[in-house]
Formats: sequence, C-alpha cells, structure tokens
Amino acid sequence: MTNEGWADIRENLRTRVGKDNYITWIEPLKFAALEGGVASFAVPTTFFGDWVSRNFADHILHQLHRSGAAVERIDFVLERNAPAPAKPEAATPKRTVEEKDVPGAPLDSRFTFDSFVVGKPNELAHAAARRVAEGGPVTFNPLFLYGGVGLGKTHLMHAVAHELQLRQPDLRVLYLSAEQFMYRFVQALRERQVMDFKELFRSVDVLMVDDVQFIAGKESTQEEFFHTFNALVDQNKQIIISADRAPGEIKGLEERIKSRLQCGLVVDLHPTDYELRLGILQQKAEFYHTQYRDLVIAPGVLEFLAHRISTNVRVLEGALTRLFAFASLVGREITLELTQDCLADILRASDRKVTIEEIQRKVAEHFNIRLSDMIGPKRVRTIARPRQIAMYLSKQLTSRSLPDIGRRFGGRDHTTIMHGVRKIEELMTADSQLSDDLQMLKRLLQG
Ligand code: ADP
Ligand code: MG
Repeated sequence: MTNEGWADIRENLRTRVGKDNYITWIEPLKFAALEGGVASFAVPTTFFGDWVSRNFADHILHQLHRSGAAVERIDFVLERNAPAPAKPEAATPKRTVEEKDVPGAPLDSRFTFDSFVVGKPNELAHAAARRVAEGGPVTFNPLFLYGGVGLGKTHLMHAVAHELQLRQPDLRVLYLSAEQFMYRFVQALRERQVMDFKELFRSVDVLMVDDVQFIAGKESTQEEFFHTFNALVDQNKQIIISADRAPGEIKGLEERIKSRLQCGLVVDLHPTDYELRLGILQQKAEFYHTQYRDLVIAPGVLEFLAHRISTNVRVLEGALTRLFAFASLVGREITLELTQDCLADILRASDRKVTIEEIQRKVAEHFNIRLSDMIGPKRVRTIARPRQIAMYLSKQLTSRSLPDIGRRFGGRDHTTIMHGVRKIEELMTADSQLSDDLQMLKRLLQG
C-alpha cells in the first residue's frame, strides 16, 4: 500500500466517523509502513495515537481489509520517529494537531439544540443548558445533568459547546468524558507533565465532564478533579457535569465532591414519555426523508414505535435507521407489517416490564378498592380476592420471587403468596368471569 492508496481508503472513513472526527483524527494520520501484517501510521503525539487507536482502529482496519490489504493490526509511531515516507508529502498544509490543542473530545456535529426535541421529561434540563449556552454571567455552578442512559445528556452538552463556540469563538470550551479526564491525568503522571496538565485544565473558560460516575472509586483522579473543579469555580468559570445518577447516589465518590456538585443546579432528565418519543421519531423521519426521498411511511408506524419502544432514545433511533435502510433496500412502503418483521428482535427486547406496583394499582382500580387495601390486613372477600389476583399476576408477569412479592404485599409470608396464586389458578378454570377479568388485566398491564 502506498500513501496514495491510503488516501483513497481514507476517504471511505469520512462517512463512517463523521466529518468532524475525520478532519480531527483521520486526515492527519500519515501512512508509514506495512510490514508483517502491521500497518503503521505516523501521529503527532502519543495521545493522538492512543485516541485514534481506542476510537477508530476498528473502522480503519475494516477499510483496510476491504481494500484487500493484508493487515492484521495497526500501530502508531510518533512522527519524529517515523521512517521517511516513500514519497514526499504534498505541500498542502495539513491540519496537524498539537497536544495542547486537543485536550478535549471531538464534538458530534449532529448534537445541536436544533436537533434536540423538547418535551416534559427533559424541559428543565434543556432550559438550564440553554441558559448556560447563552454565555452570560455564571449563575449556577456547576450545572449537573443526570439521567439514565440514552436520554440526551451528551447531546445537550455538545449542544452547549456548539452554541458557545458560535457566539464566542474565542472562548475555550473543553468537553471530555470523565474517563478521558482520568486517562489524560494518568498519562501526565507517567510523563511527568502534571504541571502542564494542571495548567491546561485551569486555563479553560468552560469545562464539561461527561459521565462523571466513571471516576467513582478512583482516588487520585478524584483528587485531581476536585482541585481542577475548585480552581475553575474560584475563577467563576462555568462547569457542566453529567452522570447517570444524582450526585448523592454515586457510590465511591468522596463526600466533599458530592457536596460541591450539589452546590450548583442539579437537574435530571426523566425517562421519555410517549409524546417525546413520537416527537423525536417525527424529527428523525423527516431527516431520513431528505435522504431516501421515495420512501413512504404508512400512517401509524411512528406511533406504534413510540408506543412499543420505551427504553431509550438510542434504541429508538437505531430502530428507525434500520427500518429505513431495510425499506429502501427492498423498495417497499414502510407498513406496520414490515416494521414488525424488520424490528422483531428490538420489539421483543423492549416488551414492557411490568412492576408489582403497577399490577396492584391496576387491579385495585379494576375492582374499585383502595390501593392501600392491597397491602393492608383486611380479609373480607371483596378485598382479599382482588389482592390474590394481584399476587397471581405478580407471579405471572414479573420475575420476582415469592418472598419478594410477599414483601411488596405488606410483608406477607411467601406461603401466603403461594396460597393466593394457587387459589386463583383453581378458580380460574371454573369461573369464566374471573378468567375474563384476568385476560383483560393482563392486556392492560402489558400494553
Ligand atoms: P446519554 O448521554 O444521556 O446517554 P445521548 O445524549 O448520547 O444520551 O443520546 C442518545 C441518542 O439519542 C443521541 O443520538 C441523541 O441525539 C438522541 N437523543 C436523546 N434525546 C434526544 C432528544 N430530546 N431529541 C433528539 N434526540 C435525542
Ligand atoms: Mg452520554
């Protein structure tokens, strides 16, 4: 493989990794040699090589294979140590990246405020992020965003970074994951450049650290993070932190860090609701439409997906991507039937998980008794029977053990639960009203 050969192969990576990643990480790679199944590339710094290796090695290897190159592994060498390239590089100035210029992670250009759909579950987090993105005086520090996986934390942080960069191009905005923070810190320790590291992080105007739960239990990284954090707060620099749970709930995080994190504004992203999911799907579908113009989506398909896939937005997006790709491949309208075929595995995986509390609530509603009577001691039949039905459904529809179910029915013994379950099983065969009730309740609960 020659340098030109690599340039061709490289082009294919542009769509795989996205334009920004491509410009920052792939374009600067210089092909150095291919020997014994190892393709080596010259990189400006060790960090650069490590980053590319961790994030893009698979993509690169894949493209090399596709081009027919006999490569088993890729390797990175520092530019100054690299063997001279076979031909001199063209004189066009390449964007080389000095270590100090890229302390952060690349931003995803798709994660903007424009593409963020706002709904009840995320409106507070969105408003807070907007406020920070205006770049006015710092009013709360840090902004702490937390919520389950795939609910838009990273999206919002990138959106803030984009917006700030747009409004104030000179502002030094640094975004990185807590993992990368640690990685850089450890590297600085190893290379005895801790002073540089400190200086670098203390010189930014806005610091964003994603997934901070990662540093839980990592003592020296926490220590360093804490000092960086304090130094920036003292200088009135804005900090944004995200995590998968509230500061107080992160185990293995020092108390003083928890309390500092709680000093700012703590907002959570709630699990998505139906309206938000539908909004996101509609937005994505519009986007896909610009790419696959001939595709038609039958009415009800997006609603069906919003209803059935309630896990996280990433899964929702993945489902839609697959659906469009599949439909464009077979050249058919996207009907409900096609959707069910194409996404059978995803739909199965996100079948709603029913909780005991939901069962108790629905059964109580259905039989018109109080929810508190579900767990209370009353033994009259009009209450005891529905309670047994709820026990039976809990056993059937959840994976909870009998003792576990007992605990949720006011601390009853597991034998009581077993008795209740058996009773209903017995009655069910003879009592058609009861079996109708059960059918209906199951349908209601399973959505
Ligand atoms: P998190 O960091 O909370 O795990 P991400 O920010 O990575 O989640 O979001 C996962 C995916 O879902 C991304 O592709 C993101 O663009 C998308 N997404 C999440 N919430 C929204 C939203 N409200 N509007 C549009 N896209 C969203
Ligand atoms: Mg994230």
